[in-house]
Amino acid sequence: MADKADAAAEDALLLADASDAADGDPCNVTIKVRDSIAFSTTELSVPSTCSEVSVTLEHIGQMPKTAMGHNWVLLPADDLQEIAMAAMTATAESSYIPEGEDRIVAYTKIIGGGESDTVTFSLSDLEEGTEYAYVCTFPGHWSVMRGKFTVTG
Ligand code: ZN
Repeated sequence: MADKADAAAEDALLLADASDAADGDPCNVTIKVRDSIAFSTTELSVPSTCSEVSVTLEHIGQMPKTAMGHNWVLLPADDLQEIAMAAMTATAESSYIPEGEDRIVAYTKIIGGGESDTVTFSLSDLEEGTEYAYVCTFPGHWSVMRGKFTVTG
């Protein structure tokens, strides 16, 4: 009996692994990027019960970060354009993050094909009543490579 239950639990785990969305812990999310100007999802939501949220950006493409680099930057939706424009004058070494920009809640470094980076932040860093969005600040990407970040519950 126990074996049968274990086998069923294992099947469930395998199924969960096969899907991006159902990766067990809702406070740990993964976003994939490729050799194109797009995130694998344009909407991310996490439960308000998460004390911390970890976002992993995974580049499953082939191109180097100098040609098709991507990052994941969480910021207030209303400030997205202004910050993204400022980011274009930042350097690759600083992952195209404007120096001293304190409106940015969290960001990963710029990564290329085969790389990944994880950023962990607290939901208490978000301001109540503010809409948040995420964007890639690699030059030329921000106008299309973006998504909506919401906290549910
Ligand atoms: Zn990008």
